[in-house]
Amino acid sequence: MTCNICFSKKIKYFNFGKFPKSHDFKKKNIKFKKYSFILKQCQNCSIIQLDKKGSDNTFIPRFSWIKNKEPTLHLKYLHSKIKRLIEYNKKILFISEFDKTIYKNFKNKKNISILSQIISKKKYKNQYQIIKKIGNKNLEKVKKKIGDFDCIICCRILEHSYDLHKLMQKIKIFLKTGGEFIFEIPDSKKPLIQGDISMLWEEHPLYFTENSFKSAMYYFGMKVINVKRFLYPQEDALIVTVKKHKFKKKLNLKLNYTHAQNYFEKCTKIKKKTLQFLNSSHKKGLKTVFFGAGHRTVVYINYLNIKKFISFVIDDDRNKSNLFFPGTNLKIYKTSILQKKKVDFCFLSINIGLEDKIINKISSINKNIKFFSTSKESKYFNNNYE
Ligand SMILES: [Zn+2]
Repeated sequence: MTCNICFSKKIKYFNFGKFPKSHDFKKKNIKFKKYSFILKQCQNCSIIQLDKKGSDNTFIPRFSWIKNKEPTLHLKYLHSKIKRLIEYNKKILFISEFDKTIYKNFKNKKNISILSQIISKKKYKNQYQIIKKIGNKNLEKVKKKIGDFDCIICCRILEHSYDLHKLMQKIKIFLKTGGEFIFEIPDSKKPLIQGDISMLWEEHPLYFTENSFKSAMYYFGMKVINVKRFLYPQEDALIVTVKKHKFKKKLNLKLNYTHAQNYFEKCTKIKKKTLQFLNSSHKKGLKTVFFGAGHRTVVYINYLNIKKFISFVIDDDRNKSNLFFPGTNLKIYKTSILQKKKVDFCFLSINIGLEDKIINKISSINKNIKFFSTSKESKYFNNNYE
């Protein structure tokens, strides 16, 4: 097997086991299909990649209410930059609906185009479908109609691409000579160092750090000219400006080739400690539940293989209510279930910023429940697990 970015054969593999699709909620308690999660780190370009398993339609949710939520607060920063470009009569292309936070402010301006809306009338909820549509479309024809652009904005798409070469080739044709791309991506460095197992997601085949992203761009003949970092709990966001570049010599970057191995070892260690805790609590007759039925929890519960220690999963999304949680026989209930059921421990597997709010809500129903977080950065993370 080769690296998907630089095609080197020097690769290290780490098998995390089998997982269901994270949107595979079921109405009946039937067997779930599972897929191997094999993380690989290229020892040439350093990029960490997840191997694709499953059919072509693996990533398309069966339920229409499933949407991929991405953080957007920092995108306001891009707003002033785009505003300035528009004032200078520059042409701007947005790639998809994941840029909406920015383009909604400029909708009626001339010189603004949105590629996903030009190539399809459908509104896509998931990056996989957008990338697929771009991959299948004859974009040269589209280019004849809309021309080329001074600036191309693309938020939260690249890390979802199983064939980044193809995607870059496709969107590069819209870039004017001297023009620039602005990519927005999550930085995986923090979760990699922390051993945050919930970082893994079948919809993310690429896990970039700032330097490994520069390395990737080098292999596409692109140079990173500016990086802006936005601090978030769990994963920072990077806004990266990139230009076409003819490299005369190999890019001199300090690349880390052991991130994936350290991550694997750290996850294994946390798994062992957490299992000991859950096992002994279970033996004492103590009841544990999880709050949050998103993709972070799917990976967490399935990786640790702890369904036998859990009573049920709580989520107040009414669409998920009473469904079976992916990969398990655990039912999903709303918070109000706690009025009827005895619970001792609640593991929070949500955005850290929401933890206190959820704790207050649950504590108002049962003040004796003890909380733990699955996120290493949370004040509720049990540090004895390390
Ligand atoms: Zn490589």
